[in-house]
Amino acid sequence: MAPALRYLGGACARARGGFSGALAWGWGPAPGAPWPLGRGGRRASTSSFDVVIVGGGIVGLASARALILRHPALSIGVLEKEKDLAVHQTGHNSGVIHSGIYYKPESLKARLCVQGAALIYEYCNQKGISYKQCGKLIVAVEQEEIPRLQALYERGLQNGVRGLRLIQPEDIKKKEPYCRGLMAIDCPYTGIVDYRQVALSFAQDFQEAGGSVLTNFEVKEIETAKESPSRSKDGVTYPIVIRNTKGEEVRCQYVVTCAGLYSDRISELSGCNPDPRIVPFRGDYLVLKPEKRYLVKGNIYPVPDSRFPFLGVHFTPRMDGSIWLGPNAVLALKREGYRPFDFSARDVMDVIIKSGLIKLVFQNFSYGVNEMYKALFLSATVKHLQKFIPEITVSDIRSRWARRTLHQQLQ
Ligand SMILES: Cc1cc2nc3c(=O)[nH]c(=O)nc-3n(C[C@H](O)[C@H](O)[C@H](O)COP(=O)(O)OP(=O)(O)OC[C@H]3O[C@@H](n4cnc5c(N)ncnc54)[C@H](O)[C@@H]3O)c2cc1C
Repeated sequence: MAPALRYLGGACARARGGFSGALAWGWGPAPGAPWPLGRGGRRASTSSFDVVIVGGGIVGLASARALILRHPALSIGVLEKEKDLAVHQTGHNSGVIHSGIYYKPESLKARLCVQGAALIYEYCNQKGISYKQCGKLIVAVEQEEIPRLQALYERGLQNGVRGLRLIQPEDIKKKEPYCRGLMAIDCPYTGIVDYRQVALSFAQDFQEAGGSVLTNFEVKEIETAKESPSRSKDGVTYPIVIRNTKGEEVRCQYVVTCAGLYSDRISELSGCNPDPRIVPFRGDYLVLKPEKRYLVKGNIYPVPDSRFPFLGVHFTPRMDGSIWLGPNAVLALKREGYRPFDFSARDVMDVIIKSGLIKLVFQNFSYGVNEMYKALFLSATVKHLQKFIPEITVSDIRSRWARRTLHQQLQ
């Protein structure tokens, strides 16, 4: 979850427009239930900040929190287009605290994932946020998967993932009595959490430290003033003007963009490179009927395809006790569209014209066809699930369209 840091500084100039003073202020976590404004930090006027962070998902909120805790003298604002925080990817994911096994040793991702898992557990303990360290099995069900499984185990050891073991069928049964497999990696450090709750807690820390969250603020323009303003003091101090779709403005010195599925567009607005472009994929999850939850104890994952380590249907226990199965990955017709027929002409045109989709399709044709087939035919997904838990049948699945999310596919 690496935020893009965008700096827009430089020559300030003629201040454009005044301050709207009519911004919608959002105070999560519950709509309409404001948190008291925290103390500390240097207060800016309602619409000018030292630093503005665009995007109120977990990346934006974690960045805002970290920044204000390290630099309490800064005035910092988070701008979020929705009325609530963390309602997109952060509120629509599998909720797994990954251990860091998949990434290339010594890569930044490997270090961040291993360190991040430890920090999340520590943070949840500190704040009393519920999580379950229910572990994960990565299970080989075919002989040909075993060398890849062993290589993954070595990689996990090199990455310093705690407690890893390579286990045989009898130990698989001890961990997951209904799961079959030839060999598995037992990863007890993996857990589950509600990431939206974590994100909202970050927002609360941020606000208590003096930060401001402005919801219902969809950023549409970012520009630097071009000449030295003669009359506006704020125009000198805060040379960047950020405008929303209603024409309201905030000003600042620095912008950090963390706009999730719109990160390419916001990057471009901020004068930076829009690459890599976002190609949206929707992932459909299935849900196991409550009376069948006993079939799954912890996370059960297939041996990953090295090209898409996080894809592949998996069994995921949720904090509410339900068991999700999925997701698949089907090209979506809208970036933040969660229903199969959600459509945005601009998003579709962007995918066709700008994203290099054709290349992506050619490179991964059979994978894509397989995913679409699974999306259309429930029995195909169930057949795949039965490789791990043979007892699962189509009638054990409660909801075909339980949850929808988008995959962010970076070129
Ligand atoms: C199907 C799926 C399953 C996943 N499972 C896991 C998992 O199990 N474990 C894990 O660690 N990660 C998982 N992830 C990844 C994880 O969810 C994301 O990495 C993370 O949520 C990204 O957070 P974000 O803040 O970048 O994006 P988001 O949560 O999408 O937040 C971006 C925010 O920016 C706002 N925004 C966009 N444009 C504008 C604008 N113009 N003006 C103002 N605001 C704007 C949006 O409204 C949104 O609130 C999963 C992802 C998917 C898609």
